[in-house]
Amino acid sequence: MNDSTAPRPERLVLMNPGPVITDDRVRAALAGPDMCHREPEFSDLLTRVRHKTTLAAGGDDRHTSVVLTGSGTAAVEAAVSSAVPHGGGLLVIDNGHYGERFRHIADAHGIRAHRLELGWATPVDLDAVDRALAADPGLTHVGVVHHETSSGMLNDVAAVTRIAHAHGREVVVDAVSSIGAERISLAADGVDWLAGSANKCLEGAPGLGFVSAARTSFEALAGHPRRGYYLDLHRHYAAQEKAQAPAFTPAIPGFYAFDAALDLALAEGWEARHARYTALARRLRDGLEALGLEILLPPGQRAASLTAVRIPDGCGYAELHGGLRAEGFVIYSAQEQLAADFFRLSTMGQMTQRDIDRFLTALTRILTARG
Ligand SMILES: *Cc1c(COP(=O)(O)O)cnc(C)c1O
Repeated sequence: MNDSTAPRPERLVLMNPGPVITDDRVRAALAGPDMCHREPEFSDLLTRVRHKTTLAAGGDDRHTSVVLTGSGTAAVEAAVSSAVPHGGGLLVIDNGHYGERFRHIADAHGIRAHRLELGWATPVDLDAVDRALAADPGLTHVGVVHHETSSGMLNDVAAVTRIAHAHGREVVVDAVSSIGAERISLAADGVDWLAGSANKCLEGAPGLGFVSAARTSFEALAGHPRRGYYLDLHRHYAAQEKAQAPAFTPAIPGFYAFDAALDLALAEGWEARHARYTALARRLRDGLEALGLEILLPPGQRAASLTAVRIPDGCGYAELHGGLRAEGFVIYSAQEQLAADFFRLSTMGQMTQRDIDRFLTALTRILTARG
């Protein structure tokens, strides 16, 4: 079937925190040639994507990456379930939905977890991290989210890593919604395990996650328990590093897109991307505040790519979503305890200042119509 008269789908402005509006070159790459994943072409593509992913994660010659077919959660789960040894435990730094997810993952794999519950949208208490590790030598690993997307809060991963290392522990960082647009580096911060995904600030297509770490750390997984099968990181590492082939059938179009997206991300650089997202966010936040809307976090705690904002009085989220969707904008609800009062607006991806201005105009119109 080829209906050439079908209208081109409208360009929705995706203000959900991933998947994002992608560059035309990334979307075009999805339509690359059919290919067998056990032929040299895919081996080259895999090796290229792994190398560029490691660069995006701030790695050097000592580091490498394993790319998984699965979303960001698959990458976090692969890291946690593979890295924590027999008899080990995970200190979960929980100041939002994704921090909590670390605990759910640990529970699912029978890994002992100690949850440092700080409260949503509450900055990480570094002294409490220090105390928790001092009190319990069995907590071999610390799980921390870099950008806690449930609130938009940026956590100080470098400081957490310093404390963990002072106690001889390893850190697993959920960098799913930060890598590409916030400062995070395997080499400079000494992050032990970094989990990310293709479709947020790296601006690729959905479907791929990855774990980046030192080669020696991946090698050391050989002696660890195999808690899962598909998400066994050592299995993927051995296949991708030694045989330069995937362990299982990969999402080949996603690799094509990620290859193109990584070229753009590395050419732009995380600093410039951070500045681009920050400029969009500033314009958005200024506009929201001019409308009298309250932003959840103080300026110093906000990531560049997300703004959580209070739902205006007398207006439900569904109504706001529907009104804005009709004007071409996709907004995103908040989760769990924040859902009743807040919604979220992302500034990730190929969004423009004009998109922000048009969004603010549409929002103003909706709020004015309601008085
Ligand atoms: C998006 C996100 C994830 C992964 O979500 P998926 O639905 O699996 O892609 C994990 N952690 C954070 C902080 C995220 O923002």
